[in-house]
Amino acid sequence: MTIQSVGVIGAGQMGNGIAHVFALAGYDVVLTDISREALDKAVALIDRNMERQVSRGKITTEVKKTAMARIGSTMKLSDLGQCDLVIEAATERETVKQAIFEDLLPHLKPTTILTSNTSSISITRLASRTDRPERFMGFHFMNPVPVMQLVELIRGIVTDQETWDTMHDVVDRLGKTAASAEDFPAFIVNRILMPMINEAVYTLYEGVGNVKSIDMALKLGANHPMGPLELADFIGLDTCLAIMNVLHEGLADTKYRPCPLLVKYVEAGWLGRKTGRGFYDYRGEAPVPTR
Ligand code: NAD
Repeated sequence: MTIQSVGVIGAGQMGNGIAHVFALAGYDVVLTDISREALDKAVALIDRNMERQVSRGKITTEVKKTAMARIGSTMKLSDLGQCDLVIEAATERETVKQAIFEDLLPHLKPTTILTSNTSSISITRLASRTDRPERFMGFHFMNPVPVMQLVELIRGIVTDQETWDTMHDVVDRLGKTAASAEDFPAFIVNRILMPMINEAVYTLYEGVGNVKSIDMALKLGANHPMGPLELADFIGLDTCLAIMNVLHEGLADTKYRPCPLLVKYVEAGWLGRKTGRGFYDYRGEAPVPTR
């Protein structure tokens, strides 16, 4: 099946990056969110990020102009009805995602492929609540989407081969690389990454190190490009906590217990970069540790 029009649901950190790479690859994109403000911010951010690519000589002004013209935004889910592919990239909460698919289904043409950018939630369970579980997949981009090369393709139990092949072709056309994962909690990347981040929060919680020493230890001691606490702030602490909860519940193993300090930060609304504070405070000129 050929994909040309793509609907992206959720215009947050991931949604804007996904819209960006699809528009540059020549797809027609419709971006939607429940928040008009989020939509406007996303389109402005895509424009700024593409402008940066122009200034670095990665794309021409003409390419940017054509790509920006391919992106439409709407607050009506029904406007995604004719899309060949829908990518759900809303908040990492199963009830939110289920409600979105429920509202979307009556408007969809029968051939549309449905995907979720979820970091951890069961693809098979999300798919089972739709009218097309065989045409449903996990489509997991990494943050920031325009920069990161990997896309995890997650096959639900019912996903058919044609859908998988179609999505693999889409990844190729985006110029990215697909890693194939089975549908178990948090798939591959976050199954490995999130327990490491959670352990870094425990290391802080128990006073083994402070924010700076923990991040420096992993950057200089393990050659990680970002420290784990810096990375947690970048991902969003609410998303990190949601993924740990999925691992904890889904695998029923206490080794995945979310650190109480991570829970506390989320309760405080300190969600990392997106809210201005997390393990670091981003409101000044340079980030400084919050404790
Ligand atoms: P975010 O908080 O930046 O954005 C979420 C957006 O979803 C918000 O703009 C919100 O208004 C919107 N939204 C909420 N309910 C909605 C609804 N009913 N309809 C339409 N829009 C709605 O979150 P994010 O970091 O972009 O994460 C989005 C998804 O991508 C999650 O499933 C997350 O697990 C996954 N993901 C995140 C990362 C990361 O590093 N942040 C990486 C890979 C995948």
